[in-house]
Amino acid sequence: MIKALFAILKHYAAKLFIGLLIPYVLSAHYGLEDPYILLAIFIFSYLASSLILPKLHLRKSCAWCGSRKLSYQEGREGMAIWKYRNADGSRDKRVKDNSSTANFLSKWLCKDCDAVTKFVHSPHRRPSKRRSIIIRSLDSEGNTDRTGTDWESMFNYTYEGAKRKGRA
Ligand SMILES: [Zn+2]
Repeated sequence: MIKALFAILKHYAAKLFIGLLIPYVLSAHYGLEDPYILLAIFIFSYLASSLILPKLHLRKSCAWCGSRKLSYQEGREGMAIWKYRNADGSRDKRVKDNSSTANFLSKWLCKDCDAVTKFVHSPHRRPSKRRSIIIRSLDSEGNTDRTGTDWESMFNYTYEGAKRKGRA
């Protein structure tokens, strides 16, 4: 329940923040008061941030030097995460409408320092290197001093333990 709430908050927080910030600034600092114009600006800035934010890939940087000049090397799907599962993570075969998602694991070569960085991308029904990054970790060192960092999302849910249909 809490995790689901976090996921929803994470999904909408940044867009809502930007969507509300722009009308707020216009009304508080520039005296714009017409509620319809403010509403229109809110909708516009919300939709614009929905289009732009996912493309920023804020976490896609080299874990050794922090550069964003990365070239894709290889990737693969992680293990399936079943919606309803047994304690060992395997599929609960008693559930007919069971479904699964999977992480995507990718490796990227840095064009600035030659380090290789690994990313874990968030689970999805169609796993891909385009999904948002939830873990960044160094795979092999670069040829400069290290200024980049490993990183792990606080929204990196764990999928341990059984989950049964009809139970929280
Ligand atoms: Zn680098």
